[in-house]
Amino acid sequence: MQKVQGVYPLLGEEKKIVITAHQKPDGDAMGSSLAMYHFLKVLGHQVTVIAPTNWASFLNWMPGCQHVIDFEKNREVSKEIVTKADMLFCLDFNVMHRTKNMEKLLLDAQCVKVLIDHHEQPQEEAFTYGISNPAKSSTCEMVYDFIMASPYADKMTLDVATCIYTGIMTDTGSFRFASTSAAVHRAVAHLKDLGLNHTVIHENIYDQQSESRLRFTGNALLNRLEVLYEYNTALMVVTKRDLLKYEIKTGDTEGLVNYLLSLEGIRLGALIIDRDEERKWSFRSKGNFDVNEFARANFEGGGHKNAAGGRSNDSIEYNVQRFKDVLKRYENQLQ
Ligand code: 5GP
Ligand code: MN
Repeated sequence: MQKVQGVYPLLGEEKKIVITAHQKPDGDAMGSSLAMYHFLKVLGHQVTVIAPTNWASFLNWMPGCQHVIDFEKNREVSKEIVTKADMLFCLDFNVMHRTKNMEKLLLDAQCVKVLIDHHEQPQEEAFTYGISNPAKSSTCEMVYDFIMASPYADKMTLDVATCIYTGIMTDTGSFRFASTSAAVHRAVAHLKDLGLNHTVIHENIYDQQSESRLRFTGNALLNRLEVLYEYNTALMVVTKRDLLKYEIKTGDTEGLVNYLLSLEGIRLGALIIDRDEERKWSFRSKGNFDVNEFARANFEGGGHKNAAGGRSNDSIEYNVQRFKDVLKRYENQLQ
């Protein structure tokens, strides 16, 4: 993988460009994709954003979101567009299998592939150009840096700013996580100067819940939480029945895991959700406990030091028991 700066000379003439992110794209994945979309459109390129799967409806307000193609629902069209593309931007993931059923299509594509991402351990050989920096708050911050360091820094439009802010806000837990550097605040100050309306963005993302989603959260906190005090760990188990009863949709479980760390003294929060296709783990930690390593070693996952995910094909009961068994080995690290 060569330095991402190598991309700038390629942007001088019109190209067919595809942008993609990880499956179930979140605020940062969708924000970085759409920010790059608007930026490249202004430069005169033919740009298509293809999401590997569907996304949470609370992202639908984002400028350009109506043009995003859901690969699962439009496989043939997506294949044609990717096959004809000159360039592919891969944002907010760094291993191709995070695009689920799109993996093969992306690996087989013969075009220039660009990575911009902030997760640990990138699959470097899969990309022509790129930048991977786990110290960065969000991929959106990195897209901001990419644009500002380019010869086209004046093309930071309000749409670009809005999309970038969305991902920075969601990935920093609204500017509270350790990754929220002075540079993040400086970038946001610049976006404010461009006319950014941060209040509306916050409301669009966080204040559009259905009643059943809010009650689902209440039920999870009341009935699905187990605190393992000897390990300073909180565990939440969301059953399939809960998902059906409260009509839970993509994105409705986002943020749930963060409640676990709001408990005094808790260093590890673990949430497991019994999805149709797999059991999905989310891990969050405070301080030095490294959930990226934890998820990688035990639950086929990865992510960042303080926020990671994992998966399993085994039953939810098996996973919960396994988690409790595995925890014993980490007792010292969790004190
Ligand atoms: P979340 O718990 O919000 O789904 O994910 C937390 C972080 O871990 C995100 O940065 C996400 O990209 C990463 N992550 C989530 N699930 C997986 C997974 O199965 N594999 C890997 N490598 N990373 C994951
Ligand atoms: Mn991200």
